[in-house]
Amino acid sequence: MKGIVFDIKRFAIHDGPGIRTTVFLKGCPLRCWWCHNPESQEVKSETDVKKNLLDGISFDKTEIVGKLMSVEEVIEILEKESVFYDESGGGVTFSGGEPMLQPEFLTELLKASKEKGFHTAVDTSGFAKTEYFKEILGLTDLFLFDIKHTNEAEHRKFTGVSNKLILKNLRFLTENDAHIIIRIPLIPGINSHKNEIGNMIELLNSFDGKIKEVHLLPYHDFAKNKYRRFEKENRLINLPVLEKSQIQIIKSRFENEGFKVKIGG
Ligand code: SF4
Repeated sequence: MKGIVFDIKRFAIHDGPGIRTTVFLKGCPLRCWWCHNPESQEVKSETDVKKNLLDGISFDKTEIVGKLMSVEEVIEILEKESVFYDESGGGVTFSGGEPMLQPEFLTELLKASKEKGFHTAVDTSGFAKTEYFKEILGLTDLFLFDIKHTNEAEHRKFTGVSNKLILKNLRFLTENDAHIIIRIPLIPGINSHKNEIGNMIELLNSFDGKIKEVHLLPYHDFAKNKYRRFEKENRLINLPVLEKSQIQIIKSRFENEGFKVKIGG
């Protein structure tokens, strides 16, 4: 079984507990305006041309983003890192793109990871068939589950898809006692305003106390050069970032409702 991987990050500390290896599967059905990995969206290899300057001379460095890998090749890399998982309570996180867009590959990766005794996390937009979530439920120790907007029309506008299936899947996971951490990208002018934060809290409270932890991911513009290199439209150009004080106010609102909150992953 092979799938397309766009990156493997060692010593990741923001994608679940402990020291982890994050395996980024390529391809995503969403088109979030704030996506900081636009190179992850297509389920195919792409060419990345970076400008480099050496001794006053400019030259192009070309890199292929996206590599076809077998489950065995990925697991071989994870095994080399596993000493760090044992020492830190870490493991492997499958991220994207949207890892559920390659469901068979993801399932095989999770099975092989569990056979090796690794703690497994899946970082998902939630936009996938519910049957795929059923398939991986028993193989996944932790779901890092994104909530981007509670309003369906706004969600469709800013991500390209409805949030109905996402919320259905979140309900399915909570009803089946999955361990879930909610991840919320905080995007100024889109979902970080008072009303929408209130709507998100109300939504999370509707899951009967099954959701206990929230990670807030404030928008940054670190990806602006990638948009240029991959010739993708950057619709949030010149968007100001949130002030620390604004982020703290949002954090406190979730904390006041009893959620454990972390800023960043
Ligand atoms: S779900 Fe994630 S990877 Fe997909 S477009 Fe949105 S931010 Fe990018």
